[in-house]
Formats: sequence, C-alpha cells, structure tokens
Amino acid sequence: MTGLGTLDAWVGRTIGVGWLPTRRDLDAYQLRCLNETIGKARVESPFYRSLAGWPETSHLDELKDIDRFPLTTADDLARGDPSLIALPLRDAVRLVTIPTSGTSGRQKRLFFTEADIEATVAYFEHGMATLVRPGSCVAIAFPAERPDSVGDLLMRGLDRMGAIPVALPVDGPVEALVAALRELQPAAIAGMPVTLGAAARCMAADGGPPLRIETALVSADSVSPSFRTALAVIWGTEVFEHWGMTETGYGGALGCDAHDGLHVRETDLHIEIVDADTGRVLPDGSEGEIVITTLRRRGLPLLRYRTGDSGSIAESPCRCGSVLRRLRLAGRIGEPVALGDGKRLRPEVIDDAIFAVTGVIDFLVEFRSGRHMVVGLVTSDPRTVDEVRSVLRSHPAIGPALRAAGIDIAVEIAVDPPPPPCRKRRVLGVEHVA
Ligand SMILES: [Zn+2]
Repeated sequence: MTGLGTLDAWVGRTIGVGWLPTRRDLDAYQLRCLNETIGKARVESPFYRSLAGWPETSHLDELKDIDRFPLTTADDLARGDPSLIALPLRDAVRLVTIPTSGTSGRQKRLFFTEADIEATVAYFEHGMATLVRPGSCVAIAFPAERPDSVGDLLMRGLDRMGAIPVALPVDGPVEALVAALRELQPAAIAGMPVTLGAAARCMAADGGPPLRIETALVSADSVSPSFRTALAVIWGTEVFEHWGMTETGYGGALGCDAHDGLHVRETDLHIEIVDADTGRVLPDGSEGEIVITTLRRRGLPLLRYRTGDSGSIAESPCRCGSVLRRLRLAGRIGEPVALGDGKRLRPEVIDDAIFAVTGVIDFLVEFRSGRHMVVGLVTSDPRTVDEVRSVLRSHPAIGPALRAAGIDIAVEIAVDPPPPPCRKRRVLGVEHVA
C-alpha cells in the first residue's frame, strides 16, 4: 500500500528540483548546504569560532572533504561555554534540555527556531504519508501534551496530511492504554517498542476483543525480531522503524516497505559513519558510529556530531526505488552490560530473548551485586516465570555468559509494575563498559 515515492517527491521539491531527485541532485544540495552551514557556523557561533583543528579554508569542494573538520560530541552540547548558538537567544523558540547518561550530571542543551520546528513537522507530514492514509485514525503513544514535543510535532504533521491523530494515555497502567486502543480502533499507531509491545501482549492475554492495526511507526535505535513478530501476530501490524533523537530535530531516518534499512532525512542531515575509536570515516557497508551534520539549522548547527548510535550505510540501492541513503542500525555504542572477566552482553539480546516468550507483557531486568540477574515480569500467566528462566539459561549467548561470570538468574512476577515507559527499556544496576 505504501512506498517512498511520495517522500522522494517531497524531498525533490524541498531541495529545489522539480522532479524525483537523483543521487546527483541530492549530493549537490548537500554540498551547498554543508558549505553554507560550515561557513556561517564559523562566523556566527563562538563555539565553532574557537574550535581547535578547524582547517584553513572552510570551503568544501566535494562532500567527502567534510572529514577535514573536527568531530563534536555530546560534551560540547553539555558544556555550553563557549556557546554553540549562532543567533540571538530571543530568536530561539524552543529550548530542549536532555539529561545525559554520563557521570558529570551535565545536561545537553539544544535550541530550535521556528524554521527548525517547521522542517520537522513537514518531514513528519510526508514521512507518515508513506505508511498512513489520509482520513485514518492514528494512535500516538508518545507524550504529546508539551508544545513542540516529539508527540506534538508528529500529531501536527499527521494533521496536515489529513490523518486523525489521537494521543493515548501513556503515563498510566498498560490496561488504560489497551482500553483506549479498543475504543479508538486506530488504523495505525506510533510509539516506542516497549510501550507498543506491552499494549499488544496485554491485549492478547486479557481475553477481550481483538484489534487490527495496519501499520506502526516505531522509534528506536534497534527493533528486536521478537517485537516485530509479536505485533504482526497480535494486531496484524507491519512495523516501520524510525530513528531520531533530539539532536536530529527528532526526525532522522525512516524505514520503507522493503524493511531493509532506514532512509535518511537528507533534506536536513548529512550522515557519516566513523570508527568510534579513531574517528576516521568508514566506507559504506562498514559498521561504526553515526555522525550527523545539520544542513538547514542556523540557530544551533551541529557539525560532525557524534550521536553515540552505531550503524552502517547500505551500499546498494533500496528495492523501494528511493535514492535516499539508508542506515542500518546496530544499537548504542558502548552500552553492553559488563559481566566481569571480560564478558559482555548487549541489552537488546536480553530484551529480545525475554520478549520472545509469548506470556511476557513487560519486564525489568536488574543486576544485583554483580551476582544476580533479577527479571521482574509483568504477565497474566504464572507459567511464564519458568519459561523465561529456561529461555535465558538455554540462550546460546546469554546462558554461557552468565554461567562463566557466576551470575544466577532469578525470575519473579513484578509487584505494582510501573506503566511501560515511553523510552528504551533499561537494564538496571549494571556497570556499563565505557
Ligand atoms: Zn526503501
């Protein structure tokens, strides 16, 4: 039913060509925008003016020349001195403060202008048109009350394309979410995997009437196979992945119906993949850290910003026919769980293994005193407890790693479980490898 044709057509109009853009059109647009962004940033932002390692000339002859410029990091955003801002503060319409996971406790601060917000709403409008029809009801499982929050901007984009977005109650129990969905009967849903997974599993277990939801937009840095299967089985849903963060202006890359990577929002982002240790640019197909440069942001431009997410750029063209480059996501950099004696586990492996058990609605994993892995389960079927324990023990990656580290597995039913969070599931109490 879908296809990126409409998104490519919009990209063509946005970058100023009157036809479906070719790769050459996009590269020429990106080069022009990079030169403008870099030139202005150096002149107008105190941070970029004083940034060490800046090459003698700010002009790029080709896209790949961007590798001559220094990389920037979340620390640069958190420090705020000198400021990255390249315009008077009164022109910034929205200030976003993002808590960082680092130990410094400093927060990243970002500013958006009216034009930045408009660019995101337009991207959501045309991106969502690839998976939602005009007139369809779309349930929004992101917090949407705050003006210019991601949920609010997504709803504004959907509204413009003629769909009917409705915000779900996301800060209450999962049963409230399920009741709202049954009443709404939406054609599509948007949210984080944890939220949608819990709602679907709860609905499958409660004996109430089934629901069919055609498409889901899922925002995450990786979507597990067990989650994708659960939504397909329970709601008959085709899952479209989205990748983005506040730094990308929320929207960043969107899956298509080929489901083989996510098409980058190339109207606003130039993407590079670098070696996380050396910072060197890697060729297409190689996995490394995703680095973004904003193309149209004048207030707070980000130049070669290290996102902390890892992935690769697909080498071959997409089956859907879009010329937009594709990202294959591979999770957060440096987030594996350290189990001692050099053994590591990726949180998404644990997540996928536990959610693959049909009776699981939601869960929390906690590592205690480096000796116990405690899984708090939300389930309506007590037999799920034994099943999860046995799945973890016999899992080819998890079982041997836990045994080697001398960690035992305890699975229990969670008492007073919190509502499924509108964010990534976190594994608690673990020591993260830096
Ligand atoms: Zn595609």
